[in-house]
Amino acid sequence: MPYPVALGRIPPDLSTFNGAFLYCTDCSAAHRISQNDRSPIYLDDGTPTSTDDLQRFLGAHVEHRFRLLRRSSDAEMLSHARWDPMCRVAWEASDGESDFVVTFGRTDLGSPRQYTIFPGRLLVENECVELDAEALRRVIDETLYPHAAPESKIEPLVEFCQRAIATIPSDRFEPVDEERDNPSVQLACLPPSVVEALLGETRRRFPASEAERLAQVVGDDLRRDIPLIRVTRRYRIQSLG
Ligand SMILES: [Zn+2]
Repeated sequence: MPYPVALGRIPPDLSTFNGAFLYCTDCSAAHRISQNDRSPIYLDDGTPTSTDDLQRFLGAHVEHRFRLLRRSSDAEMLSHARWDPMCRVAWEASDGESDFVVTFGRTDLGSPRQYTIFPGRLLVENECVELDAEALRRVIDETLYPHAAPESKIEPLVEFCQRAIATIPSDRFEPVDEERDNPSVQLACLPPSVVEALLGETRRRFPASEAERLAQVVGDDLRRDIPLIRVTRRYRIQSLG
């Protein structure tokens, strides 16, 4: 997309740009393009009135220079739990040449989201990967001898799993969910390489019948259904302005 974007080059078909951001570099104003821009709004007496937020935005910035930005990474900062309507969000966005940070949120419950954009990036400030060891102990215990497996059998397997996880780069874990009240925490199942290593270890440590029962749980439940991994990642904003 050449810079600056001329207003006349923005086609009427918004679906191409759905979700993208228009950034007026002359006055640092921002608008997120949405198909809802063209939705009619009904007055109290039922009369439809044509409101078009995009046209209103363009009208307010006639002759100004624009950049068209799209979200450029999965990096995300949230001020509150995602379900909180007052949550403020920061994303990375780019026009293919430069990096920007988009932030958005509401000033009160009844108002629409307001967007701000400025040159910058989101940098990982800290991250850690943890195994939910208690959940793994519970799974092994219930698989072998419900509520009666000796610690001497469980602990070495938990420690083996912890060591295996420590060798995996944090971006190799595939999130399946996030913690409900803390979106900085992504939940993931065991990656295939850890599952393979754990299966080998169970065969070495347990009699065949027990190893077989564990193999089913490790290969299916811990690979796909029970997210034992917590990846906590916190970002900070680096302003490039
Ligand atoms: Zn402007």
